[in-house]
Amino acid sequence: MNRDDGIRYSPRLSAVRPSPTIAITRAAAELRRRGKDVVSLSQGEPDFDTPQHIKDAAKLAIDNGATKYTDVDGSPELKAAIIAKFKRENGLVYDLTQVSVGTGGKQVIFNALSATLGSGDEVIIPAPYWVSYPDMVLLADGKPVVVECGDAYGFKLTPAALDAAITPRTRWLILNSPSNPTGVGYTVEELRALADVLLRHPHVLVLTDDMYEHIRYVDWSFRTIAAVERRLFDRVLTVNGVSKAYAMTGWRIGFAGGPAPLIRAMATIQSQSTTNPSSVSQAAAIAALDGPLDFLAERNHVFRERRDLCCKAFNDIDGLSCLLPDGAFYLYPSCAGMIGRRRSDGRTIDTDVEFATFLLEEAGVAVVPGSAFGHSPYFRISFATATNNLIKACDRIAKACATLR
Ligand code: PLP
Repeated sequence: MNRDDGIRYSPRLSAVRPSPTIAITRAAAELRRRGKDVVSLSQGEPDFDTPQHIKDAAKLAIDNGATKYTDVDGSPELKAAIIAKFKRENGLVYDLTQVSVGTGGKQVIFNALSATLGSGDEVIIPAPYWVSYPDMVLLADGKPVVVECGDAYGFKLTPAALDAAITPRTRWLILNSPSNPTGVGYTVEELRALADVLLRHPHVLVLTDDMYEHIRYVDWSFRTIAAVERRLFDRVLTVNGVSKAYAMTGWRIGFAGGPAPLIRAMATIQSQSTTNPSSVSQAAAIAALDGPLDFLAERNHVFRERRDLCCKAFNDIDGLSCLLPDGAFYLYPSCAGMIGRRRSDGRTIDTDVEFATFLLEEAGVAVVPGSAFGHSPYFRISFATATNNLIKACDRIAKACATLR
């Protein structure tokens, strides 16, 4: 690909788009720089701080000299803490050869796809999906097979839709529960039904992204598919991390449990790209995983109040409707009722991108359009921000929407 700057870029680059959530966050920051008061609801990051005992562990690690390279895909100490976590919280038994640590869950997923996909290999991605899955598949030369899961199905993949999407070229199914962007979580029965389909297709691997495991609001016990169906254990990569539960997005530690040969292949990719994740962050992650989880109940309580507040505010606006999520810290309201309405300057809103642009320009609120998540017309807000910001944002959105004709 040739661009004006004289540099010849790879064809691979033109297949992917930069992260839309980062793009919106940038646009909001730019408006702020120009003096506009913008409330950003686009970033998926807890506003709480990393718990003190985790920060203390990192400081101690620096003082004790844990400042050098570690094993490529994680120190044995962190792997031991991850093995204990999987056993304690998920009933999954892995050994040291079956665990991988990367620079965030994002790198772990990237490694897995890069290590396994070839040209034309298909990856089933239920939509709405986390923005990065399709682009990571494309970067690995694979083919995203997006399966629409509308709100009529609670935004979940049905066994029939899964069965219909599987071909001889299918390499992976990606599951994400609770989901970014919808917050819906699969029940044991729903996972069981998907597992029954997968058992009939032994060539399909499953990547389950459990990043929001600990951020839950309903009386629903989180289960992960390798624990629900033991016969799938050798075909499942169970991905998790410390970013969301422990408010550690900047520390960049994610991990996975899976079959030893796959874990070895992922380490090979990582060894030629970033080598080990930060040694100090690994020490902090040990303290996180081995430490108490009691702070979570309090934080989830605050998240729950914010969820209820925003969900009600959106459902009170004519033209918007919103499902109450089971977990994570996002709402994914439909803006179908806004499509076709006219702004005060005469412009019509035809898509969710135009609705998000309208909210940014007229309400000074940054949200991410549903098209970024493969399912329109919707938009995503993150309620992981201060409650007064959310009240302000909902109020502004209601006032701006009232001006649409
Ligand atoms: N998976 C999902 C569904 C996410 O929402 C995110 C982050 O937003 C990640 C994975 C990656 O998390 P990290 O790379 O911070 O561990």
